[in-house]
Amino acid sequence: MIILKNIKKIKNYIKKKKNVNKTIGFVPTMGALHQGHISLLERAKHENDIVVCSLFVNPTQFNDKSDFEKYPRTFKEDIEKLKLTGCDVVFAPNEAEMYPKSENSAYNIGIDLGYLDKIMEGNYRPGHFKGVVIIVNKLFDITEPDTAYFGEKDYQQLIILKYFVNMLKLPVKIIGCPIIREDDGLAMSSRNKLLSVEERKNASIIYQTLLGVKEKVKTLSPMGYTFTINEIKAWVKQKINNNSFLRLEYIEIVDSKTLLPIEKGEEASEIVACIAVFAGKVRLIDNIVL
Ligand code: AMP
Repeated sequence: MIILKNIKKIKNYIKKKKNVNKTIGFVPTMGALHQGHISLLERAKHENDIVVCSLFVNPTQFNDKSDFEKYPRTFKEDIEKLKLTGCDVVFAPNEAEMYPKSENSAYNIGIDLGYLDKIMEGNYRPGHFKGVVIIVNKLFDITEPDTAYFGEKDYQQLIILKYFVNMLKLPVKIIGCPIIREDDGLAMSSRNKLLSVEERKNASIIYQTLLGVKEKVKTLSPMGYTFTINEIKAWVKQKINNNSFLRLEYIEIVDSKTLLPIEKGEEASEIVACIAVFAGKVRLIDNIVL
């Protein structure tokens, strides 16, 4: 496995591999790797000749400066984990490499994400998805992947990236991979490292609540409206906020393709419930396809 920090060097490497028709699978990450990331890398390894993983805590996608500063950085451990997955190249640039001063600070890829950027994460983290799209676009340009792998854990991000790739007709296939969870159901996340022991224990309630939503949504069949969507949302709010370690930011029940909120069960072919919860100061997101 090689570690490259310089854009020119990795571009050179990729060019050589492309010249001999190797396929490139790409897994962008912000490091602090866990089994969720590893699952993406394993899938990439299975489906490509060369696997590239990027480690870069992207400042432009943080709307909260202290969240960026506190974000866990575990470079050495990440490298050891990556070696075990059979990753071929790690791209670990610094900020100046990805955002050189010479570049227009109002760097904009000129794509309107429309309402996708205004709901759920977009509403509570203004500018977040713009930052995600900027960095992913840069990374795609550098690594020229045939296929890129993203987790369903960040469900809205996955939908937005598919939309953006389709809009710009980029020659890359986006694959969504299932959420990997801890034994008690908590979705794995780099931010879990920041939880206190008590917060960590209580955070498992998030997934239990989503399972409860799944049960309740089943009753939204045309045969018997036992619960309305609003009643389900109120139930979630109560269940989360009754726990003194947790505070609900939002729960939305949306169409899995358009992310538009649904009012009745039969409106969408597939429904996803998306949730954001604060455990102390740590913001956790999760979702469940219903
Ligand atoms: P991050 O380092 O948090 O930016 O995540 C890098 C990639 O890993 C993103 O595509 C995430 O959606 C994905 N990911 C993060 N956590 C999980 C998880 N628990 N299961 C599956 N994929 C995940």
